Amino acid sequence: MRAAKIGICIFFAVPLVIFGLYGEVDKQPKSLVIAGARLIDGTGSPALDDAIIVITGDRFTAVGPRARVVLPKDAEIIDAKGKTVIPGLIDAHVHFTYPTSDLECLLDNDAIAAFRAGYFLHQYLIAGITTVEDLLSRNNVGIVAKKAYRERLFIGSRPIVVGLGITCTGGHATEDGRGRVIEADGPAEWRRAVRKNIDMGADLIKILPPYSREEIKEAVEEAHAWKKLVLVHHYFLENYDFTRWAVEAGADCLEHAQWIPDDLIQEIADKDIFCVPTLSVFQKLADVTKKSHPEEQEKIRRYQESTEIFKKLKAAGVKMGVGTDFVKDFMVEYPEVYFEEIERFVENGCTPMEAITAATKINAAICDASDKIGTIEKGKLADLLVIEGDPLNDIRALRHAQIIIQDGRIIKQ
Ligand SMILES: [Zn+2]
Repeated sequence: MRAAKIGICIFFAVPLVIFGLYGEVDKQPKSLVIAGARLIDGTGSPALDDAIIVITGDRFTAVGPRARVVLPKDAEIIDAKGKTVIPGLIDAHVHFTYPTSDLECLLDNDAIAAFRAGYFLHQYLIAGITTVEDLLSRNNVGIVAKKAYRERLFIGSRPIVVGLGITCTGGHATEDGRGRVIEADGPAEWRRAVRKNIDMGADLIKILPPYSREEIKEAVEEAHAWKKLVLVHHYFLENYDFTRWAVEAGADCLEHAQWIPDDLIQEIADKDIFCVPTLSVFQKLADVTKKSHPEEQEKIRRYQESTEIFKKLKAAGVKMGVGTDFVKDFMVEYPEVYFEEIERFVENGCTPMEAITAATKINAAICDASDKIGTIEKGKLADLLVIEGDPLNDIRALRHAQIIIQDGRIIKQ
């Protein structure tokens, strides 16, 4: 408990330094207009050329073709002719408090986790990723980060967070004892664990295997009663059919395109259950395993299988979001790997427009924040990127945001 308090204090101190660097963002005019760009609004609608986007305060207040939008008199106008505007990007699966190596795991505590959160969220924002969904952090440092963000104690990507994961005694993510999960056994304990998370301030509920059919049913029912979405890390174990039970229980999102049997895919689509396939991390794990443990053929095959499952999910109409899930040594590849993941969507059959929609509108829905973020529409929080080039011609253009606006504030120009 004491360590947690120290962590909170240090978390507040670091972002103040970052905020100092960006203090000028407060000096914004009343309205800001982005004029003349090609607009991809994130809804999946065709791009609109010569668009006008008006931002007042932290919201979009008018969006449309030049002929139909009246410019406010006192507005600062940014000429974006020849550029493309898209919504702020979202990563639907990160762990922004995790140690970046095995050695760091030995030194891990709440204070250092809070420092990492500040650093990671800042790096992410200046790459154009304006929101991230954190899918586990030690001792709820993620929830602390969310509160600090809301109090504007630092400038960084907007955190939307699960609380502690829920698993059984000795289940997934208990291995290292780093305080990331609640170990619960039996339906009543699972229901209580959901309530505990909601009480602590979780935006979403995360479930990890193993679990029984009854346990996940009870947990999903309780989460939905509190209007919280349930995200499930699922896998396969003989005599346990975790994925099927998650789908049957009405979970909202399956994390990772792995362990999904063919006969379940259409049901996932019909029930409107999302999937965050995390293709890049599986490819990375396949490459590393091939090099260091070539005898582990089954494991390598399973990792590689994710792209095949992705194609089947897409063909069935399952809505998929963009998430990275890089941990430990792989974390040095942030934030570039995020763009790699979007590019993999295109490599595996999505149009660039579909990939952008996945990274914005669909990810906002997975974060349970469709009413606030994900698209450039009147009334939404003003998160956008002005990009050199046209990502509909070359999706790699997303890597080069020239202007980044979050909550109506210019972060980079
Ligand atoms: Zn993860």
